[in-house]
Amino acid sequence: MGHWAERNIIEAIAGRQRRTPSDLIQGIGDDCAVVRKAGGLVDLWTTDALVEGVHFDPAWHPPYLLGRKAANVNISDIGAMGGRPRFALLALGLSGTTSDDFAGKLMDGFLAALVEHDMVLIGGDTVYSGERLMLSVTVCGEMAENEVCYRSGAQVGDLIWVSGFLGNAACGLELYRCGKDKEDRYSSLYCAHLDPQPQVRLGRLLAARGGVHAMMDISDGLATDLAHICKASGVGAVIVADDVPLADEFLHAAAMLRIPPVQLALQGGEDYQLVFTAPESSSQSIRIIAREAGASAICLGRIVAGQSVLLYQNGKSQDITFQGYEHRF
Ligand code: ADP
Ligand code: MG
Repeated sequence: MGHWAERNIIEAIAGRQRRTPSDLIQGIGDDCAVVRKAGGLVDLWTTDALVEGVHFDPAWHPPYLLGRKAANVNISDIGAMGGRPRFALLALGLSGTTSDDFAGKLMDGFLAALVEHDMVLIGGDTVYSGERLMLSVTVCGEMAENEVCYRSGAQVGDLIWVSGFLGNAACGLELYRCGKDKEDRYSSLYCAHLDPQPQVRLGRLLAARGGVHAMMDISDGLATDLAHICKASGVGAVIVADDVPLADEFLHAAAMLRIPPVQLALQGGEDYQLVFTAPESSSQSIRIIAREAGASAICLGRIVAGQSVLLYQNGKSQDITFQGYEHRF
């Protein structure tokens, strides 16, 4: 990748953006932009691109699952605000080597993911993209204005929760990279990388009645994404290593790969679980909602005064602020 850091580029872009119309509630800086409309509702807007060789390798990513993933990573951002995804636009950059069969399966997967969420494809663009396939997706969602969960609402004393195992997707990708891609016992790890599941139902319920202060989805690793919440909220965070949810097959694979598991779980990207903060008084309703959504809610830390994300492990604390994943391959 280039010598630039994604975060600095986004800050430079945001700094050049001067206009803030009165119906724009949230522009650059959260999982979605939030635009007020009639009836106490807002539109949510998000866009995310997948680039061959950077975000996926067609040698091991089946086209159907790639299409699903392109939709689901965007749908995840809508769920991360607590919203209902509704419409999608798809810009498809086809490379010289993309076959009709591959493109067909890609579209089947993409549209299947939309159908699962009762969404509609309303437009897009199709271009020749040279040597690398690219999918750029925009999704629009909707929700009540007074229920939107921003990154900026975390308060000192809040508990920090995640919606499931961390690190599975990064571990699955690592297994593919080193050619250990055909072991039945790791199927859930391959699946986490190839076919991530957005936590939309959980996100919507948490926003509606979970008493949540801040929420986002984990795309760049908890170390980075929690740092975004902390920066936006003006707070710090402490994570307890023993409370980080790690799957058995993940622990097995991490040992085999000789990667420290907690590090992989907090720094690896693309889990698309939710991270959210809430006062202790919300804990009971959060557990009930998670059960209702068929999801998990695991408490692994606390919001504190400060501006760093600290990891407590073996009696020591370590600063892991923005130590997450940047895509390379
Ligand atoms: P996420 O991982 O939730 O999709 P990103 O880290 O990609 O969020 O982006 C962070 C914020 O910066 C989002 O609000 C996103 O819309 C905005 N952003 C990223 N790239 C650009 C860009 N090139 N132009 C304008 N806004 C951008
Ligand atoms: Mg996000």
